[in-house]
Amino acid sequence: QMNERESMFLVSTFAKDYFHDVMLNSNKGKAIGLSYFKERGFKDETIKTFELGYCLDEWDAFTKAALAKGYDLKYLASTGLTIVKENRQFDRFKGRVLFPIHSMSGRILGFGGRILTADKKAAKYLNSPESDIYHKSKILYGLFQAKKEIAKQDNCYLVEGYTDVISFHQTGIENVVASSGTALSADQIRLVNRLTKNITVLFDGDAAGIRASIRGIDLILEQGMNVRVVQFPDGEDPDSFAKSHTTEALKKYLEDASQDFINFKVSLLLKESNNDPVKKAGVIRDIVMSISKIPDGIQREVYVQECARIMEISERVLFSELAQIITKGN
Ligand code: ATP
Ligand code: MN
Ligand code: MN
Ligand code: MN
Repeated sequence: QMNERESMFLVSTFAKDYFHDVMLNSNKGKAIGLSYFKERGFKDETIKTFELGYCLDEWDAFTKAALAKGYDLKYLASTGLTIVKENRQFDRFKGRVLFPIHSMSGRILGFGGRILTADKKAAKYLNSPESDIYHKSKILYGLFQAKKEIAKQDNCYLVEGYTDVISFHQTGIENVVASSGTALSADQIRLVNRLTKNITVLFDGDAAGIRASIRGIDLILEQGMNVRVVQFPDGEDPDSFAKSHTTEALKKYLEDASQDFINFKVSLLLKESNNDPVKKAGVIRDIVMSISKIPDGIQREVYVQECARIMEISERVLFSELAQIITKGN
């Protein structure tokens, strides 16, 4: 007898193939789903690589097809693909284009679904619910497609969204994964840590993106990894930037705009503190706090020196601040 998780993987794989096939081969799939992706500039090959799909805008077209193939309603419900309400069943992702989410080894864990209309009441993205196979804090979107290149380049770009991953991939930068809207977690970073010690955080050029990256930085440092940060122009994200630039220009931007986390944090916080000495002291403490997360003592020392240099304060002050934080046990 097969176990429950196995049955959930099987129905998810069926769903992935079904949604992909509907999008490429049915009239409505082509007219609505496929044209959406084409309009966003995704090529056929990219659509195949990421196994993108579309769920028809009908109540239960997918659920009916799955039941007809013999899949058990129990697993359609436990994966969240089908919503069961008062003995009626309907498709969770009705009318959305779909991004299947793979495990590191390529199994289908769940889906992200994007709405196509500008309906303000519905969420732009809807994901599979937490389940025995889908744990959003342990998943990085695109890792399956990126893992080889992350190891080869010895660096991983971390972006916010599905389309950022796909655009980069299409433009030839394949070492990229997304946290997909959730706050970056230690488990997600651990997945990357097995492949490289270097992460470059690329966040959207908006306030939410900047806040998210600040939180992520300390978690990455805690695992003894090196963090660089690339900020995109206001209103741009990696996808829109990649679409409006050549691959060469994008690569050049990633090099030129890439900052060490210390430079990034210092310039960001100093801008906010407006040269107010009290606030500046707070900034220093905040940065020393980040440095204190670094497990390696020598690396901590290098960062203290760097911080002293750019903030124009003595290393002695920073080291004593650091010592205090470390004895307090963070
Ligand atoms: P698009 O370019 O299609 O508008 P995006 O990836 O740029 O999408 P953002 O608004 O920047 O979208 O959000 C980044 C990521 O956060 C998304 O890719 C998605 O994974 C997640 N996300 C965004 N909005 C929601 C939502 N309403 N519910 C759940 N997750 C969301
Ligand atoms: Mn954003
Ligand atoms: Mn975005
Ligand atoms: Mn976007």
